[in-house]
Amino acid sequence: MQTIQSIRGMNDILPADTACWSAAEAIIKSVVTRYGFQEIRFPIVEKTELFKRSIGEVTDIVEKEMYAFEDRNGDSLALRPEGTAGCVRACLENGLLAGQLQRFWYSGPMFRHERPQKGRYRQFHQIGLETFGMEGPLIDVELLLICQRIWQALELDDRVQLQLNSLGSPETRKAYRQALVDYLCQYKADLDEDSMRRLETNPLRILDSKNPKTQELVVNAPKLVDFFDGETQQYWDNLLKLLDDHGVSYQINTALVRGLDYYSHTVFEWVTNELGAQGTVCAGGRYDGLVELLGGKHTAAIGCAFGMERLVMLLSTKQFSDQKVDVYLVSVGEAAQIYGQLLAERIRNALPEIHLLMHAGAGNFKSQLKKADKSGADYAIILGENELENQQITLKSLRKDINQQLLSEIELIKTLTKAYTCQF
Ligand code: ATP
Ligand code: MG
Repeated sequence: MQTIQSIRGMNDILPADTACWSAAEAIIKSVVTRYGFQEIRFPIVEKTELFKRSIGEVTDIVEKEMYAFEDRNGDSLALRPEGTAGCVRACLENGLLAGQLQRFWYSGPMFRHERPQKGRYRQFHQIGLETFGMEGPLIDVELLLICQRIWQALELDDRVQLQLNSLGSPETRKAYRQALVDYLCQYKADLDEDSMRRLETNPLRILDSKNPKTQELVVNAPKLVDFFDGETQQYWDNLLKLLDDHGVSYQINTALVRGLDYYSHTVFEWVTNELGAQGTVCAGGRYDGLVELLGGKHTAAIGCAFGMERLVMLLSTKQFSDQKVDVYLVSVGEAAQIYGQLLAERIRNALPEIHLLMHAGAGNFKSQLKKADKSGADYAIILGENELENQQITLKSLRKDINQQLLSEIELIKTLTKAYTCQF
């Protein structure tokens, strides 16, 4: 019979890699927890309307990438393409925002119908941070310091760079938008279909087009920084000063936009040049307008999301391998196997930290001991007919050249305790 294949762009994460994933997740979780972030979990499926309204109709995600479908009731639902919208929805629904300062993190799969390639998948994973109720720029800087601390903990700090931009206040963007449209209108013939449409609806988004021809045009386009009003300039100056004080290095990238109306002021990406075009490992920004757009009161907010596939690609799997075995239990014969499992449980009770692997298949002593050796275990516990008859257990060191010992169960547990307790 033919086997059934997975869906294109949706990957299995296999045991060889999961140690690396878990370690990266644990490091991020530990850093954000120390900064007072609390975990929030919300559904993978939401009403399509939520994403349309929050991400915006005129975006790649909503126009082309959403997994939207009708459920059996005829409701239009979608697999979440990102976490911010669901997070804000959950916060509003559960009254977590009113007059409160909040720091949340979440983790899980996101779905976008993109062309799969290295670093770009249809199911991918993000760890996201969202904060509410805090005007910048102190909290903006906190978020960037958290990212930096995470890069340091993962030993990636010299492989990712911070790119920074400001989208300014709504007034700043309004003035800029007109200037940008005037400029781009001169080059209508050179614009692709997407950009032509966005010229009317969302011109800022043209700035981060991935089309090389459009990118060339954009180089000489007016810069938002030249349209900063007083408030925006002051915010920007303060932000840069704080980052300088903390010794955070950054590059200003004026093409960096999140072309949605509710974004303002700080936007940033952490990029690497090791993953080709898919170089953004973490992206974030201030979205003071979103809570209101989703039916709440005006709420200051800033967040970011780590793309876990890209992040894990930068890590070496070996660096984080956690598959150690301390003791491998070898047993031959039915009675020895049954006793072996009882013994294994008693050892686990006495030494809860121990990594004990019980051989649970067929095989003679020789083949089982081969597996024990390959497992990397320090010791093999050997049980056969002889041992059972004499009520003794063989303990064999697999790494040191010392004689194997015949021990009672109590002696065995004592010996293992001595060997391992000082390590834990
Ligand atoms: P890109 O410009 O690479 O398409 P984006 O602006 O669509 O990214 P965001 O919505 O900001 O991405 O998502 C935050 C992060 O999630 C990205 O920086 C990236 O690391 C990761 N990410 C986004 N889309 C994908 C995908 N299809 N596959 C893997 N990771 C992704
Ligand atoms: Mg994208």
